[in-house]
Amino acid sequence: MNNILNADLHCHSVVSDGTLTPEDLAARAKANGVELWALTDHDEVGGQARALAAAKAQGMRYLTGVEISVTFIGQTVHIVGLGFDVENEALLQGLRDTRGGRKQRAMEMSDGLAKAGIPGAYEGALPYVGNPELISRTHFARFLVESGVCKDTNEVFRKYLTEGKPGYVPHRWATLKDAVTWITQAGGMAVIAHPARYKFTPNEEYALFTEFKAHGGLGVEVVTGSHSAAEYVTYAHTAKEFGLAASRGSDFHSPDESHTELGTLPLLSSELTPVWQLLSNRIQ
Ligand code: AMP
Ligand code: MN
Ligand code: MN
Ligand code: MN
Repeated sequence: MNNILNADLHCHSVVSDGTLTPEDLAARAKANGVELWALTDHDEVGGQARALAAAKAQGMRYLTGVEISVTFIGQTVHIVGLGFDVENEALLQGLRDTRGGRKQRAMEMSDGLAKAGIPGAYEGALPYVGNPELISRTHFARFLVESGVCKDTNEVFRKYLTEGKPGYVPHRWATLKDAVTWITQAGGMAVIAHPARYKFTPNEEYALFTEFKAHGGLGVEVVTGSHSAAEYVTYAHTAKEFGLAASRGSDFHSPDESHTELGTLPLLSSELTPVWQLLSNRIQ
């Protein structure tokens, strides 16, 4: 398998903050020509068996996937895991712990929004939540759009759900070391998700990549729905500089919200080593 492969190794289902089922995502990926697929729900592998079965039914190859929330130098960083054993107990326990504080955080977010004149946001967000352990800012955003407070989810994040805004509650997620170790010891590959999204200084970003590698991380997303064309070039360079394999994924969440469709991004540059080359024995 080479870089020409249409691989989409990052998306979300109703098991976390997407709006489609694993089966509907698989059908959509297939319709867009995806040949190798991974479902990467936030902090949760509950959709993996369904995603694998759906991929097989559609005639696609499959890698197990997850996107773990990590706190690094005061910011939230996402680490994608690919090709791990979904029954690995240390990984499952780590994900359970990572999910743990979400309900409390959501209630505090709701209190903050109430003080800003938006009462009942927790109860309002609940009908959008597919998995009660995985209530996220995205579900609040959908509620605030549907109830007419904002015109789209982008506006909700900008006005209410990002640092310094009334519905923002800081949260301590997993450590970088733990997330990379859980994935790696479960036989998978850890990948830095959408690196251009973080607001690190150059020194902090260097520390992220250096520590990630030291803990056993092997990949970085280069072509993702969160990057511009210029950022594909920047992070292709970073991948080579740090000797990391490159990944490609849409980060698709919903037909109504996502600007990037499954399987439609540019292919990886042929100068990069694709993650699937190193994961060939983990592909199902
Ligand atoms: P949480 O894990 O609860 O902090 O929610 C994070 C999720 O919110 C991400 O995975 C994205 O799906 C979504 N998100 C973050 N920032 C934005 C944004 N500016 N616009 C829309 N969705 C966003
Ligand atoms: Mn999300
Ligand atoms: Mn992410
Ligand atoms: Mn994601």
